[in-house]
Amino acid sequence: MQQAREFQHLLDAVGQRVLNGGDLSFEEALVLIGVEERADILDLLARANRIREHFKGNKIHLCSIINAKAGACPEDCKFCAQSAAYETASPRHALIEPEAVLRAATEAKANHAQALAIVAAWRGIGEGPRLDEICRCIEQLARSGTVRADASLGIIESQRVADRLKAAGVVCYNHNLETARDHFPNICTTHTYDDRVRTVRYLKNAGIRVCCGGIFGMGETRRHRVEMAFALKELDVDIVPMNFLNPIPGTPFERMPPLPPLEILKTIAVYRFVLPRKEILVAGGREVNLRDLQPMMFLAGASATMIGNYLTTTGQDPKKDLQMIQDLGLDPDWDGHWEHDPRETEAVISASV
Ligand code: SF4
Repeated sequence: MQQAREFQHLLDAVGQRVLNGGDLSFEEALVLIGVEERADILDLLARANRIREHFKGNKIHLCSIINAKAGACPEDCKFCAQSAAYETASPRHALIEPEAVLRAATEAKANHAQALAIVAAWRGIGEGPRLDEICRCIEQLARSGTVRADASLGIIESQRVADRLKAAGVVCYNHNLETARDHFPNICTTHTYDDRVRTVRYLKNAGIRVCCGGIFGMGETRRHRVEMAFALKELDVDIVPMNFLNPIPGTPFERMPPLPPLEILKTIAVYRFVLPRKEILVAGGREVNLRDLQPMMFLAGASATMIGNYLTTTGQDPKKDLQMIQDLGLDPDWDGHWEHDPRETEAVISASV
């Protein structure tokens, strides 16, 4: 009882502080993520919901992705169905034509998505014909004015590459830290956490919005989860995608035990406390891990989600997602301050030719 009172006292104090624009400390985040009592967890979610409402209102940011180049990736990320190192049933194909991207953009728009990210399974992107080809595709998407042109093309090899992507019309680029620095070598050995941080810095220097988060349920500790939240805070990223491992047969993580739904919701809530003004986007794995508790991701502080299919797995029917959002009294028509503005994109492209 005494412990419960102390937790309530802390929750009141830190909740009010964050609402007033203050910060949660690392130690406080560890206390919040360590809470075990069901009633306390639900109180934590309610506080996180208040913080979301305060900073994000009732708007929900939706985005979509297209797997523009699938499979046969030379990297060895242990969660990934697209690594050439593992035998999986995931599709493999070369870079798709711009027309297919434009069709996906139309579908994304019909699903109320504000953005379509062109995603490619490869290590990353440097200068050369591949960059030229992808930039042409991005330009077509950006000029179409359908949805915001986003991308996720792996490690960016130089500042010039990031600048080229910006000039082509990329508004937001996804590149995750994936997990905490200390845990990263258990996830991947073919590139480093610092490779990923460097890419984020190139993007920021280029003026591209950064979508950067990770995957939970990969054997990390709660402390690792908090460490990643603070690393993202320090990098000052714009969108924080939170994926929850959906173990893929054939990958080294195929038998990783799933995170319980309340643990997932608690983690989302702590991220809202640490990153109160950011878009917190629940992405891959929500359907299989949260199941019927999916609506609670917004009540735990999420302000965004992916709609449509994922890279190698199927998402929930977009109509069901939109219904879920509306049933919660939330609004899927996001009008964030950096929403895609076709005139701005046109100006950037024109200035670069
Ligand atoms: S770099 Fe990307 S596509 Fe390649 S194995 Fe890692 S997560 Fe998968």
